[in-house]
Amino acid sequence: MRIQFPQVELNIYNKNNPVEVPILSSEVATSAASPNIIRHITFDLSGTELEGKFHAGQSIGVLPPGITDKGKPEPLRLYSISSPSDGEDGNGKHHSTTVKRLIGEHWETQKLFTGTCSNYLSSLRAGDIVKVTGPSGKRFLLPENAEDFNYVFFATGTGVAPFRGMIKDLMKKKHRGEIALIFGAPYRTDLLYESYFREVEGTNKNFHYIPTISREEPRADGSRPYVQTQLFDRQKLLYPILKQENTLIYICGLKGMETGIIQGLASQGLEEYLTFKKELTGDPFSWDADEMKRAVKTGERMFLEVY
Ligand SMILES: Cc1cc2nc3c(=O)[nH]c(=O)nc-3n(C[C@H](O)[C@H](O)[C@H](O)COP(=O)(O)OP(=O)(O)OC[C@H]3O[C@@H](n4cnc5c(N)ncnc54)[C@H](O)[C@@H]3O)c2cc1C
Repeated sequence: MRIQFPQVELNIYNKNNPVEVPILSSEVATSAASPNIIRHITFDLSGTELEGKFHAGQSIGVLPPGITDKGKPEPLRLYSISSPSDGEDGNGKHHSTTVKRLIGEHWETQKLFTGTCSNYLSSLRAGDIVKVTGPSGKRFLLPENAEDFNYVFFATGTGVAPFRGMIKDLMKKKHRGEIALIFGAPYRTDLLYESYFREVEGTNKNFHYIPTISREEPRADGSRPYVQTQLFDRQKLLYPILKQENTLIYICGLKGMETGIIQGLASQGLEEYLTFKKELTGDPFSWDADEMKRAVKTGERMFLEVY
């Protein structure tokens, strides 16, 4: 089945020519008990060239104020659009993203480390103005002929953002093919858009929501469940979908999450999703991580966005 991506407009605004837009709303998306703060933030793009231009799966650029330690202007950061292609409003004027405040202890100094842009953006309130760019991204999209495919979406954390948008797009088109969303989070309190995915699951037999909580309930053998372990634990459901020639895999979230998924696919003989630059032998779970990075790439039916 030929995968035809829609023609999308890119970088109508760029870092040298950003556009100022107001924040329409900003709400906490994690549950109150979660130590992580992730916000669902909506931009009002009305009256700008960005109106109606974003597709689910694309990203918006944000330019935080200030200068870096090296005296340069703060660079642009990208955030996935989490709204459907026609926006939260249905007219492409209000587009949202899902931002995690980066907060940690500094690796070397042991002092509090706070990411610049995620904390800037998360502190903005309705009516505040922000400089944005975009749209960005032309391959992490649903195909134009979206109805011809099944989808297996793997997400960790804010990586679920583009899939919320894509699933909303598919639901609007009354998609009939299979859709599985495997969503990994450390604790139940970190699951995002849970009520929406449950609602879709309740009304669509072809939608399979598979939350995967790594630090609560262990698997039968005592190990931790991760998105890739669902290839085994939910094999009965996922394998027949993955074996179909018109199934596409999308992966979004933490850098490195693709490794286990690639190993899981290879160990189940699902090499059709992979391109091997060099033959690798033996148990895929014993492949050397660096060698694997060099030898295995995503195939034509697998799309990756990790950060
Ligand atoms: C295509 C794409 C889509 C994205 N979508 C989203 C999204 O939907 N939601 C989202 O939240 N993010 C998303 N991101 C990530 C986002 O762009 C930013 O990278 C993220 O918000 C962190 O930016 P920051 O300015 O807050 O942190 P920065 O100030 O840029 O700090 C991050 C840097 O600090 C380093 N660092 C991290 N922790 C520590 C520590 N404890 N001690 C010392 N150094 C540390 C990291 O190595 C990194 O280099 C996306 C990225 C890409 C490329």
